[in-house]
Amino acid sequence: MRIILLGPPGCGKGTQADIVCKEYNIPHISTGDILRDNVKRKTDIGLSAKQYMDTGRLVPDEIIIGMMQDRFSENDCKKGFLLDGFPRTITQAEALDNLLEKMDISLDHIINIDVPDEDIINRISKRLSCPNCGEVYNLLYKKPKKEMSCDTCGGKLHQRDDDKEEVIRNRLDVYRKQTAPLISYYKQKIKNVNGSKDIREVTMDILKILKS
Ligand code: AMP
Repeated sequence: MRIILLGPPGCGKGTQADIVCKEYNIPHISTGDILRDNVKRKTDIGLSAKQYMDTGRLVPDEIIIGMMQDRFSENDCKKGFLLDGFPRTITQAEALDNLLEKMDISLDHIINIDVPDEDIINRISKRLSCPNCGEVYNLLYKKPKKEMSCDTCGGKLHQRDDDKEEVIRNRLDVYRKQTAPLISYYKQKIKNVNGSKDIREVTMDILKILKS
């Protein structure tokens, strides 16, 4: 199964992606996670990407496309994949089309999770993550058992720099201008899901599409 999950930052893509990937036993490929890992390890990609990520801007296409080319060549992608946060521009979508053509594979589903901006700002500003293991929490609907401490590894939870309100507004602006045009790009294949519903209902709607 090869899937793209589209939607604005904070629409719940990461949470839904984890569930779907477990269900279908496919890798969850999040460009945001790969970039954060590179920033943490201070790799060349991380050092170039950090300035963009901290201010909510998109990392240049050539960096992302090279990074994804490498990721697709890994063995686990043979059984399928779910793309979360990629593509994010028309140039990336065209590069993805070329990569898929070269690998002689195609996408099975493209799902767009839709959530209004004000809900997103409310949600993201309550999001916490573990810098140690990457687990994500939300004070609205997925609270850690112990305040500010990761249930999985005990790490001290923090708010991502790019989850602060002014950066979120910028990320939403970037999304509307640079990523939302992908909805028309994929119009023949895309299915919309209402991401304002309860997490479990959104999952059911997504699984229904994947089984169709
Ligand atoms: P995310 O965790 O998907 O919200 O991504 C966090 C940040 O990483 C974004 O605000 C961008 O700065 C950068 N990023 C992630 N994926 C991409 C992408 N496909 N293209 C460009 N920048 C990206």
